[in-house]
Amino acid sequence: MSNGLNGKVALVTGGTGGIGSAICIKLAQAGCKVVSTYMDEAQANDWKAKMAAAGFDMAIVKCDVSNFDDCKAMGDKLNADFGGVDVLVNNAGITKDGTFRKMGPDQWNAVLDVNLVSVFNVTKQVIDGMLNKGWGRVINISSINGQKGQFGQTNYAAAKAGMHGFSMSLAQETAKKGITVNSISPGYIGTEMVMAIPEDVRNQIVAQIPVGRLGKPEEIAALVTFLASEDGAFITGANIAANGGQHMC
Ligand code: NDP
Repeated sequence: MSNGLNGKVALVTGGTGGIGSAICIKLAQAGCKVVSTYMDEAQANDWKAKMAAAGFDMAIVKCDVSNFDDCKAMGDKLNADFGGVDVLVNNAGITKDGTFRKMGPDQWNAVLDVNLVSVFNVTKQVIDGMLNKGWGRVINISSINGQKGQFGQTNYAAAKAGMHGFSMSLAQETAKKGITVNSISPGYIGTEMVMAIPEDVRNQIVAQIPVGRLGKPEEIAALVTFLASEDGAFITGANIAANGGQHMC
């Protein structure tokens, strides 16, 4: 079942990470040719080999999404190798938590650059191709903390909220050209990073989630794939929460 995705080229930034890997797999299962960005070559080759062993032929491209020139070089390579990108998932992200009073410019800028400036840097490389083809999907992985704020995360919450402002605006600019632009705001997902939180602290987090468990990377990936498919064509400018009921708005 491809639902319009067979043969489409999907670029997933940070696709080698916890949620990113699940997104790459689901898009590949839906028929996409999937390309993930990477930072560390050895780690990326390991990931590619693991994916190949599981039956997925993933492509990888080196790119620091916070660097515009790197993104430009990646865009040129993807145009040459694959004829452009049909589905872009802006998924790369980092945290550098600290209360605002203790937060320095480096901590602020790093998080804004990787989570938000990156969305400009990468989308800029693919949007003309989508406009020319009259079809495209841009899906931005935001966060529950961009919707409700979080103690110690002025940088991350500002970046993640900014992603949605970007989505709504670009959605309006491109809706008539067959392109949809949406955000997904996951709650706590059981990635390695979250599972590394001490069990007692994790239990306190789970206690705040009405469905009584962490989310699964595959659940975010399924939502991405739906938005990318033809069935998702009427959804644009939306911010879809996937948080087990932890925050409702
Ligand atoms: P991971 O840390 O597992 O994955 C993040 C990915 O981003 C990694 O592949 C990482 O590469 C990549 N990355 C980091 N910096 C850069 C950069 N400058 N250029 C290119 N790639 C970069 O995190 P998750 O899978 O958990 O998170 C994925 C997204 O989901 C993030 O945007 C995160 O904010 C968001 N999110 C996650 C939640 C969760 O509970 N896990 C909840 C809500 C939102 P490398 O490993 O090489 O550094």
